[in-house]
Amino acid sequence: MSEAVFAPGFKTDPYWWDAAPRRHEPQRALPADTEVAVIGSGYTGLSAALTLARRGRDVTILEQGSVGFGASSRNFGMLGRQYKYDLTTLIARFGVERAKELYEGCNRAFAFVNELISREKIDCFHAPSGRYVAANTPAHLRALETELAARAEHFGHQYRMVSRPEQAGELVTQRFVGGAVIPEHKTVHPGLFHDGLAERVREAGAAIHSGTAVTSIARDGAGWRLVTNRGELRANQLIAATNGYTGKATPWLRRRIVPIRAYMIATEPLDAAALAGVLPSRRGFHDCAHEMQYARISPDGSRLIYGAMTGEAHDDLRSVAQALHARMRALFPQLGKVRLSHVWTGQCAGTFDYFPHRGSHDGMHFAMGYCFGAGMPFGTWLGDAIARGILGEEAQTPLDRPEMPANPLYWGRPWFLPLYLRYQGWLDWKDGVRT
Ligand SMILES: Cc1cc2nc3c(=O)[nH]c(=O)nc-3n(C[C@H](O)[C@H](O)[C@H](O)COP(=O)(O)OP(=O)(O)OC[C@H]3O[C@@H](n4cnc5c(N)ncnc54)[C@H](O)[C@@H]3O)c2cc1C
Repeated sequence: MSEAVFAPGFKTDPYWWDAAPRRHEPQRALPADTEVAVIGSGYTGLSAALTLARRGRDVTILEQGSVGFGASSRNFGMLGRQYKYDLTTLIARFGVERAKELYEGCNRAFAFVNELISREKIDCFHAPSGRYVAANTPAHLRALETELAARAEHFGHQYRMVSRPEQAGELVTQRFVGGAVIPEHKTVHPGLFHDGLAERVREAGAAIHSGTAVTSIARDGAGWRLVTNRGELRANQLIAATNGYTGKATPWLRRRIVPIRAYMIATEPLDAAALAGVLPSRRGFHDCAHEMQYARISPDGSRLIYGAMTGEAHDDLRSVAQALHARMRALFPQLGKVRLSHVWTGQCAGTFDYFPHRGSHDGMHFAMGYCFGAGMPFGTWLGDAIARGILGEEAQTPLDRPEMPANPLYWGRPWFLPLYLRYQGWLDWKDGVRT
């Protein structure tokens, strides 16, 4: 493949890190004791820490990489209300009342994250841009309309169907047969959102220790003893907020969380006319295929950000960039010889029942398994719910499910993902999706 796709200065780090570089905290000794230890400095861990520290609790956050090294500084930046399962699927499986109860979790999470950003005055290009969902086939279009009509009926959510001839006002491509606008969804700059949240956490008095990997945990009386690469500490309470980066330190969670890689690229700066020739409405978009693709314009309006190939396992990010470039050009041939400034990857987390979970195992609190694309609302909301539970407040959510399923053949290495992806590809082929 051609090297011509790489712009000068091409990077294999997230585009978001240009405006929000990752950094390490000034190194200080770990405390011998802390009231609450939090593993992971993404949205989940920070949200829990903020609520606890504001209520006077002594909180120590342990992060193996730089602050916000995980998906929280790498994601696509769309704020929405969705699970892996649609509302119509939930209704078919659980009946209307239980489905509404479960889906209410999406509404509460979405309301929470928007309120958090506004209340904390986090400067992160929080914009009511809306979302465009593109239908790959007429069957997708019908299913989309049924789903959005159900959300409107049960929750009053707004939507507008877009026919194929009208689509050019949203997305300029020959690929799709129409789609729908969901005007209430929003976008942010995920790196700046994370930075703003981390700053509020520091101001509230919680300590973040970056470069501090927790290697094992064990019960110690009523509390916990944590071993890290920088020494040991004891904690009265423990929160695991590791999502797609969950590892050997928490084997019970590792058996229940499937790390899923996702990949994105950013183009070199393009002029406004070129970007308007791709996404004239400037909404974030994704399609309905199992092998989903998605794109948006960067918050500063300078370039296109595009993602696909979710779930695949690649270590050579330059090859990933070339493959994503080819897909992006197939979707938007009008981009011509556009070059890329960035490619990056990040890990989200699936669960065996496709639902996020917030719970407690043997006294260890956790929230994770956001199943892609909704970790900003769920992570911040469920992190806060964990904290309020520790504080003894009413903090129930529909995602406090008694069981978090494991799989007898799974111990943390997702060997079955290639098979799963082939099956997803077959479903797309059967549905007549053009890739
Ligand atoms: C490419 C991509 C696009 C996405 N797009 C969207 C989107 O548009 N909208 C949306 O809402 N969500 C999106 N998501 C999902 C969202 O980013 C995540 O669900 C969310 O950031 C998870 O936050 P978290 O705090 O739970 O985990 P993370 O942010 O992943 O943080 C977990 C942290 O734990 C640390 N850690 C793990 N183990 C240890 C240990 N033993 N010791 C110390 N530290 C440890 C890791 O280093 C990591 O920093 C996307 C994800 C990806 C990857």
